[in-house]
Amino acid sequence: MPIQIILEKCSGCSLCVKACPFDAIRIMDKLAVLDLDKCNLCGACVPACKLKAILLEKPETRVEKPEFKDYKGIWVFIEQKKGKIQSVSYELLGKARELAQKLSCQTSAVLIGYDLDDQLDEVIWRGADNIYLVGAPEIANFQDEPYTNILVKLIEKYKPEILLCGATAIGRSLISRVAIKVNAGLTADCTGLDIDPQEKILLQTRPAFGGNIMATIISPNHRPQMATVRHKVMQPMSPDKHRKGKIIRESFNSSLYVSRTKLLDIVEEIDNLVNLAEADIVISGGRGMAGPENFKLLEELAHVLGAAVGASRAAVDAGWMPYSHQVGQTGRTVAPKLYIACGISGQIQHLVGMQSAKIIVAINKNPDAPIFKVATYGIVGDLFQILPALTKKFKTLLTR
Ligand code: FAD
Repeated sequence: MPIQIILEKCSGCSLCVKACPFDAIRIMDKLAVLDLDKCNLCGACVPACKLKAILLEKPETRVEKPEFKDYKGIWVFIEQKKGKIQSVSYELLGKARELAQKLSCQTSAVLIGYDLDDQLDEVIWRGADNIYLVGAPEIANFQDEPYTNILVKLIEKYKPEILLCGATAIGRSLISRVAIKVNAGLTADCTGLDIDPQEKILLQTRPAFGGNIMATIISPNHRPQMATVRHKVMQPMSPDKHRKGKIIRESFNSSLYVSRTKLLDIVEEIDNLVNLAEADIVISGGRGMAGPENFKLLEELAHVLGAAVGASRAAVDAGWMPYSHQVGQTGRTVAPKLYIACGISGQIQHLVGMQSAKIIVAINKNPDAPIFKVATYGIVGDLFQILPALTKKFKTLLTR
């Protein structure tokens, strides 16, 4: 067993229980007991134990460092569905461009599919200096195996320093396979990316430990440094039609395109109907709405403003709104022009899903609610009075 408690040394002081972020240790009969199903061998308990009663053996891993000087440039995997490039890719290109300026390197897009030539200009206008394009009818639509094979081959040939990908269903499935094959680390669901000014490595920030802290993760020993970012977290560059770029067409042996799975059909998600991610205005309700019937107050205002209705997890867990409306770490990420949070306290797990909104209006009866720290405008008061008043006023203003 890689971790064990030496019972003779344990005094049942419970310091290890407090240190464990995974709730994997309990005290039973004045002795610490490990729950191996919960323990992930992070080792936080070891220094916490003053009596050295916890033994953790981690197998030594020898890291063969790649020749870092051979790895150059920032790549973005461009996601396309049914031949249409997805907006998350433009958001990543915008960020990649910003990072590339700090590293004085080029930004490249990797585009796999078929018949995509009409969208290449847009990819360049939105930040790519190069496009690695792999096109064939067999790979028109995403499939794990061929897309992984192709991306791995391209990485081995051109050696990018950084690779970014959308934290979408496609991105998550693809990039974890690629990371394993190229022996690189991968930081999923980043909410911030930057370059360390001294070390010139990628700083990958994401919520950790259930969103209680923001962790900045580095991959100093492997290349490429790989990260996924959710839709709507980064801002796309506005298209610059003067930008010029290079198209590098690659083709591979058709054996690389073989897949053990067969794509039968592509079915649109019902969730898409909610269209939260694309809405310019989102009005969300939380536990302060006090019941499902009161969401009609939000719907009335949403109707007047042409907005989508979102919800906090508390409201979703209470069964007041379906999960497809949830905004936050375990729900949707939105970046509308205007986000109105009604009866939402503003816990970090909610904030990571909406803090990129241009203007945030918070309505809360508690003046100390954390949501006011991120709000552009705050309304302290009872939402049951404020919401109908806002609806009435906007109705008058907008129908003039
Ligand atoms: P509360 O925190 O209870 O806040 C209710 C607010 O309403 C209070 O500030 C109160 O002052 C105000 N209020 C009450 N009555 C009125 C009134 N009449 N008028 C005005 N204001 C009023 N949460 C998410 O939202 N999205 C996620 O994706 C998400 N993912 C999570 C993932 C993990 C791993 C964990 C551990 C938690 C996650 N959470 C998420 C939950 C999060 O931590 C909070 O519990 C949740 O966001 C709280 O929802 P709330 O703000 O609606 O409720």
